[in-house]
Amino acid sequence: DTPSVRRHLNRLAAEGIDVVRVTYPDLLGTDRARDVLLDHLPAACEHGLAFCRAVYHTTPRGGVVPVTGGLDAGLPDIAVRPDLDTLVALPWEPGVAACLGDVTDPATGRPAPESPRDLLRGVLARCAEHGLLPVAGPELEYFLCEPAPDAPQGWRRYSDHPGNVYTSGLRADPDNHLLRVLRPLRDLGVGVSSGNHEFDSAQFEINLTHSDAMAAADRSFRFKAAVKELARKEGRLATFMAKPFNDAGGSGFHLHLSCRDHEGHNLFDDSAGAYGLSATARHAIAGVLTHAPALTALANPTVNSFKRFGPDTLAPWLIDWGLDNRSAMVRIPPERGAGTRLELRLGDASANPYLLIAGACAAALLGVLAGEEPPAPLEGYGYDTARSAMLPTSLSAALDALEADTALTDILGKGFTTSFLSYKRDEAERYGRHVTDWEFTEYAYHL
Ligand code: GLU
Ligand code: MG
Ligand code: MG
Repeated sequence: DTPSVRRHLNRLAAEGIDVVRVTYPDLLGTDRARDVLLDHLPAACEHGLAFCRAVYHTTPRGGVVPVTGGLDAGLPDIAVRPDLDTLVALPWEPGVAACLGDVTDPATGRPAPESPRDLLRGVLARCAEHGLLPVAGPELEYFLCEPAPDAPQGWRRYSDHPGNVYTSGLRADPDNHLLRVLRPLRDLGVGVSSGNHEFDSAQFEINLTHSDAMAAADRSFRFKAAVKELARKEGRLATFMAKPFNDAGGSGFHLHLSCRDHEGHNLFDDSAGAYGLSATARHAIAGVLTHAPALTALANPTVNSFKRFGPDTLAPWLIDWGLDNRSAMVRIPPERGAGTRLELRLGDASANPYLLIAGACAAALLGVLAGEEPPAPLEGYGYDTARSAMLPTSLSAALDALEADTALTDILGKGFTTSFLSYKRDEAERYGRHVTDWEFTEYAYHL
């Protein structure tokens, strides 16, 4: 309504803001934005900002994604409506405030079915109908690269030295990258709690606090875009791709997940239950295991994602769960009481946070509705194929698993599923036809 828009406008003007950057997540979770001069914000709120539907409705090859309003219909506009509740001053860009937007159909004003924020909203509404209010805490890993004109891609790992594992301070991070991102991230309000150098040279992890799932997805989305932007400001490249290097592990997007009730009680907590977990928690774990193959398409959405999986990686490879066991796909951290939760270690950093969280919540809900019980938890080594089933080994296999899991896709919606599958199948196909350096080295001389 206009008075509330006015109030925001006056507040922003008083803070010296004259531009609002309205950003929405596309299907990939990439930030797409338009910078709007403050005077034009009321019009943007009333009519929405027009963007081309391209990223939603065509494949990178330009092929038609068979959904309403696609290329077959001439690629009509989408209208992105600023969500003024998400306004925040951009700490590193004086005079600019950032704001998230929602993707709507300009003709009907209704949410576009494949808009990641709306998809998650829909899943969370379904959970709420059954008394479950998901709480999520994201952990994200990424690599920092710096320009290297002689390297094949033009980039090399930042401060790449043997022994740079879990070290502190300037030893593995001579430019204080971590400090230089942590403070602006805090000021951006994405709820970062801590950061550390990870297992491999140039790999960092930053933890976000837990919150209701929608806020956690918004914060993760903003976090990833902000880290990339802050690195870019210093001429570096921060990448959340799953497995950028052959000689280093991949980057995970671990998701801590529990559910609360309307009074705020953690529904996963039951000191009298098996393993100190409630029946709801056990059903949620079972749901995540049952729907893991389909979930993989959302949690591991690139052809590169499947190179992160494997034995002895601390990334999963098999569909299993364990008590405080980092070799399992679902780890139950040792805290109980209000902190009782599962840690889904499946996702890699390239996942669109909205889709990862929506998929995990939908799978947990299905487990609860079915009253499913998980198998006995894994003990010891989590990479024994004799004990547990394997995750899909390719993007194509994961997409097939998603399509086949109609219980899950019923919750995610047909509009989203159709767009996502066609977009991603096109990606898998293009990759399948691409000849790599590895193939030349492996075959050219002997065959
Ligand atoms: N990098 C690992 C992954 O891809 C996780 C390592 C850790 O436990 O922090 O999931
Ligand atoms: Mg980690
Ligand atoms: Mg973790």
